[in-house]
Amino acid sequence: MMDTESSPQKTLENLSAALGCSPTSQELATHLDKQDQLQHLRKHFLIPKVGDLPPTDLSLADGTDDCIYFVGNSLGLQPKSAKKYIDEELDKWAKTGVHGHMEGARPWAWAENNIEDLMANIVGAKADEVALMNGLTVNLHLLLLSFYKPTATRHKILIEDKAFPSDHYAVESQIQLRGFDPQQSMLLMKSRAGEDTLRTEDILDTIEREGESIAVILFSGVQYYTGQLFNMAAITAAGQSKGCFVGFDCAHAVGNAELKLHDWGVDFACWCSYKYLNSGAGGLAGAFIHEKHAHTVKPALLGWWGHNLKTRFVMNNEMDLLPGVGGYRLSNQPILLVCPLQASLEVFNQTSMQALRQKSKLLTGYLEYLIKHYYTRDEAHPEKPYIRIITPTNPEERGCQLSLSFSVPIRTVFQELEKRGIACDMREPNVLRIAPVPLYNSFSDVHRFVSLLGSALAASDKLSRDGQPRP
Ligand SMILES: *Cc1c(COP(=O)(O)O)cnc(C)c1O
Repeated sequence: MMDTESSPQKTLENLSAALGCSPTSQELATHLDKQDQLQHLRKHFLIPKVGDLPPTDLSLADGTDDCIYFVGNSLGLQPKSAKKYIDEELDKWAKTGVHGHMEGARPWAWAENNIEDLMANIVGAKADEVALMNGLTVNLHLLLLSFYKPTATRHKILIEDKAFPSDHYAVESQIQLRGFDPQQSMLLMKSRAGEDTLRTEDILDTIEREGESIAVILFSGVQYYTGQLFNMAAITAAGQSKGCFVGFDCAHAVGNAELKLHDWGVDFACWCSYKYLNSGAGGLAGAFIHEKHAHTVKPALLGWWGHNLKTRFVMNNEMDLLPGVGGYRLSNQPILLVCPLQASLEVFNQTSMQALRQKSKLLTGYLEYLIKHYYTRDEAHPEKPYIRIITPTNPEERGCQLSLSFSVPIRTVFQELEKRGIACDMREPNVLRIAPVPLYNSFSDVHRFVSLLGSALAASDKLSRDGQPRP
């Protein structure tokens, strides 16, 4: 039924025609939920109630409803077993103290190793190519310390112009650390005038033109602001053919897009786990180094956790460094962060990224369809608010997020949405980022969102006409 070959729009139109209903009807949403084979995964997460969200206005929404949670791109929901796993470790600590290092279902001394194969599946890597440790920006720095070795002729780092601030600062400071000038060495990839996203052809042209002077290419997998999914395979191949190392920040791609870091031959990658991977704020981050570098690329900084586990606790101060990314571990890992990540990865393990992506394309395509239906610019009524989707239309060039650019100021619209029990993300002056997450969002969530968006726009319009002061 879920035809992956045709466009989501075609699928939706065919389906509603077969049902004899309009593609905008609640009936279609209900039907899509019924035939959704991943629907059961939602029950593994705690969905906040409308009444518990601080901005809710109970005169406008039923507090006992599940909220519409479209902000899994910022902080994923809590897997139900997270608390149980954390409790188990707290109990073990209480009852056995130091013995917890070696005993129980999750011996603390190597607890993260036990979930690295689950993590590796999600990013398309071998277990030995992945390490769970630290935070994302820390891992990015550790990786750049090894992969960014600028010379007089090859000293640049190519990065998107509007990369996430932490990545921008990390790259800037790494360039300075090596005694180079970010003005000369930081190559910012800009979109064409009047365009929001980057064209693959332009990225490849830049690599072709500047490649000899580029040491490292660092792109995001999915761009946090526009939701654009980059062609990582093509960027990797183009960069490497020019002798560059190619790495990806997969913060918004992991658990969202299908990644094949190993097969694509990506040199290195890093990601956080609290967005689509639902590990909780500040969760344990990930790093990847391709196995081709296992014995040649070495960590710049060492700690005891990079030592071969078998002899790690012999403590003879002769480093037996783990090959590859394993050797980058510095400290023993926080068991209380391993627990929620394990809880989430086990839910992912009940399905596959391929199946999640298949649902995701239709779910996001459905959101796109309804937004276009109701909010395309109407030439006959130019005063009517409209929405431009800045995320690429091609499902292969985006993950689950759509970034909506409004013709009207967004702050009051956003507040009106929040009052009605919707959790999403606003970027001033006029962009909302909406992420229907295939793991726990439903087609009915999308349908309800679009209908509440209508009320929010009307309420916001009324407020501005009544001349009420905006908070
Ligand atoms: C979320 C995110 C970060 C956050 O970095 P932390 O070190 O986890 O605080 C950095 N970069 C990108 C691209 C992100 O999406």
